[in-house]
Amino acid sequence: MSSPLIQPTGKGLYCAAGDFYIDPWRPVSRAVITHAHADHARAGSEQYWAASPGLGLLRRRLGPRGVIHGVDYGVPVQFGPVAVSLHPAGHILGSAQIRVEYRGEVWVASGDYKRDADPTCAPFEPLACDTFITEATFALPVYRWPAVESVAADIHAWWQRNASERRTTMLFSYALGKAQRLLAALPAEHPGPIYLHGAVAPLTQDYRDAGVELPPTRMVSEAAKDEDYGSSLVIAPPSAAGSTWMRRFRKPVTGFASGWMRIRGNRRRRGHDRGFVISDHVDWPGLLQTIRDTGARQVLTTHGRADELVRYLNEQGLQARPLATLFGDDEDSD
Ligand SMILES: [Zn+2]
Repeated sequence: MSSPLIQPTGKGLYCAAGDFYIDPWRPVSRAVITHAHADHARAGSEQYWAASPGLGLLRRRLGPRGVIHGVDYGVPVQFGPVAVSLHPAGHILGSAQIRVEYRGEVWVASGDYKRDADPTCAPFEPLACDTFITEATFALPVYRWPAVESVAADIHAWWQRNASERRTTMLFSYALGKAQRLLAALPAEHPGPIYLHGAVAPLTQDYRDAGVELPPTRMVSEAAKDEDYGSSLVIAPPSAAGSTWMRRFRKPVTGFASGWMRIRGNRRRRGHDRGFVISDHVDWPGLLQTIRDTGARQVLTTHGRADELVRYLNEQGLQARPLATLFGDDEDSD
């Protein structure tokens, strides 16, 4: 039996026929990157290939070293006898599924992805393949996402109420992808200005530089010392909660935007006033739909609920098994 086209190694997912890695976690000579989140895009490799719209984010993540080749969606790159093309994953700006074709066999590595509409990145493109490597972050039936418009309307109403009481609305969200998606989803009329934490602002500028339209924002670091944040919405990363940075806001009302908020206990544990269910990962119905869309004979699972998903797919008569990776299950990166 010939060896699989893509297999896990100590450095990451490796395609021997084309001699390249996908999202390697150790430095390699050739890395194909699905997206700029920290557990997928690691510094130290010699050459990177990634989808063009995410190049600004990737350069910020990787630092000045390493050659980065921008690849347009759908345009194949040849690594020896292997054709590699990047296709929209709908996860964050520049996110890509990696399609690998060798001697008529097609594998697709999804990276992180979602099926819901998101104006801040290109929509997910279903790809036919023989083997589909899928993420399984939220692979349980309980994870179903409400329409993003209704969540954005809830956030807006909450902000309006807080502003009428002159209390700062503090919304915690992952800094890359989620924060920009929230900004884009908010209704056009705002109860007050929007401020960004220093971890969110430069990434948001990268989105604007890539042509994504977002409402005007200010930086907390550039505000006056005695700034009145009474009517403001402040977007900050989860790590800022409870930090000394928070002291400048008077009586803030806090909310957390995350797919994990689907589980009530998570919200209680984090101690926020509100939880908003919004994720940049695929939910359970979207995951099963996507696997059907690929028509894959074999499904390999990574991240989160990989084992549970394998069990379910096996029960449905599909060939599936978990793929050992080092991708973290970061509860903030959702
Ligand atoms: Zn991601």
